[in-house]
Amino acid sequence: MTEHLHLLHILHELQQKHRYISEKSICEVAAQLSLPVSQVRAVVAFYAFFYSTPCGHYHILFSNCTSCGYRAGGTDLLRLLSQKLSVNIGQTRKDEQVSIDETSCIGMCDHGPSLLINGVPLVHLDAEKIEQMATLIEADKPLNGWPPAWFHVKDHIYKRGLLLDSSLSAGDGLRATLTRGREGTLTEIIQSKLRGRGGAGFSTGLKWRLCQQAAGEAHYVVCNADEGEPGTFKDRMLLQQHADALCEGMTICAYVIGAYQGFIYLRGEYRYLLPHLQATLMHRRKLGLLGTAILGQTEFDFDIDIVVGAGAYICGEESALIESLEGKPGIPRSRPPFPVAHGYLGQPTVVNNVETLIAATHIACKGSAWFTALGTPASTGSKLLSISGDCAAPGIYEYPFGITIQQILDECGAVNVQAVQVGGPAGTLLDQTAFNRQLAFEDVGTGGSFMIFNQERDILTIIHQFAAFFAHESCGFCTPCRVGTILLKQGLDKIMIGQGARNDMAELQRVSELVRRYSHCGLGHTAANPILDGLQYFSQAFEQRLTPYDFTARFKLDAALQEARQLTRHDGKEAHLEQGQD
Ligand code: SF4
Repeated sequence: MTEHLHLLHILHELQQKHRYISEKSICEVAAQLSLPVSQVRAVVAFYAFFYSTPCGHYHILFSNCTSCGYRAGGTDLLRLLSQKLSVNIGQTRKDEQVSIDETSCIGMCDHGPSLLINGVPLVHLDAEKIEQMATLIEADKPLNGWPPAWFHVKDHIYKRGLLLDSSLSAGDGLRATLTRGREGTLTEIIQSKLRGRGGAGFSTGLKWRLCQQAAGEAHYVVCNADEGEPGTFKDRMLLQQHADALCEGMTICAYVIGAYQGFIYLRGEYRYLLPHLQATLMHRRKLGLLGTAILGQTEFDFDIDIVVGAGAYICGEESALIESLEGKPGIPRSRPPFPVAHGYLGQPTVVNNVETLIAATHIACKGSAWFTALGTPASTGSKLLSISGDCAAPGIYEYPFGITIQQILDECGAVNVQAVQVGGPAGTLLDQTAFNRQLAFEDVGTGGSFMIFNQERDILTIIHQFAAFFAHESCGFCTPCRVGTILLKQGLDKIMIGQGARNDMAELQRVSELVRRYSHCGLGHTAANPILDGLQYFSQAFEQRLTPYDFTARFKLDAALQEARQLTRHDGKEAHLEQGQD
């Protein structure tokens, strides 16, 4: 591992050991790795899972995911936990035994409400479990003595399709690749019309071709396993059950583009999967499927390192992910140049997501015709969905592209549906009139999140939660997003408490369009989507909360001028507004 990769790794270890990262540790790490102190300090400050003051021995992060966290009284459970342990939310108790905070979706929407305790998911919370947790924490019982069922994360696969039904043995895709050769394999990937499953839908074959043709001292393959879009959890299952096919997809890509090194960038919330992934890599090395002279080919060397993220949603954006891999804050780069030409360490880099790489392994083995037999002409193959929210069976479903929203709702047992959020908060909010639309890149695209909201849900609360999510996750680099997302949240705050007027709706529209148009990266371009969709399809939900007045001040102007009057020593009648003017 090079120094910058060591940095995140060492910071994670320090965080685990001391429960925070002190200024002294920052200086020592900087000296150890010959990095500027300012760089190490900036990294610690940027990532949510690195703390500058001590967390508790039991550090609890309660998922506030819109889809599951607030379902079944998630907020009440959080309050109950805080009350039972006598610690405020967002704080560490004085004796440092416990700290509690909220966090964005932890990828357990099919197990909600849920939380992470010392990085381990604890699922299906209820009041009884919360009470028992509090007792165990006060008794200082180690987590391995807690009921094992509390930590049992199931796959919840309810519908298998092209990928999940297809069986492969380790090495099958690689052997087929070596038989076809570099060009033959790339042609097969191009002919399959495989598009990136992360949501953007860029052609995988073209990405590999561009990277292969780009000049550089080294080429790299990166797996984006930073599945952070609220409502998405299918990569969790893929990493658990199909890690072998994932590593094989990376190795096939490496063979095609000429890379010797790859990285899996694993989201911090999935750190508990690290031992399993490391064991998979070890096993593949033993089988000769990773390392030097892969499958006996003396000129085919490739290996994979795993880098664990630290709670920054923005690192799902590929250039921010590369910055993070380089041991920096995950701030998106200006593009062009694109990562295929100027990626990790300035070298040509392919970044593909988990599902894409697994699909590539299957295509390499079974051929493009197997893949294009399903789907639509512009969206071939199948898509894995993480279905959550108000339905009978939240879980993972695989469908061929082209299926309608209504068909999906029928299969997962969703009734009385008011709205569906496809693609997470950055995606599309659909009302009932749109349920005949198709799941496809050319119609309703998605990275995999499919949240269902029934008629009992307050749609404005959901939009408000999405706005709060983006205001929190904005990396702060560019003004339109940093300021705009806060303004949008504040505008919604005002409407939520019944103080919004019609012109506030117009202002939300105006600011949303500014944020969408002028932000630097994809997060900003999509952050206003829920508000814009809400204003278009659920305008009644906004209107019902408006005050009957055209304008309502957020504060009393006359009272606000009191300090100025005191400072200028003018507090006569003339220095006050007429009654009704303020
Ligand atoms: Fe950061 Fe938002 Fe600007 Fe992207 S759009 S660079 S997330 S501030």
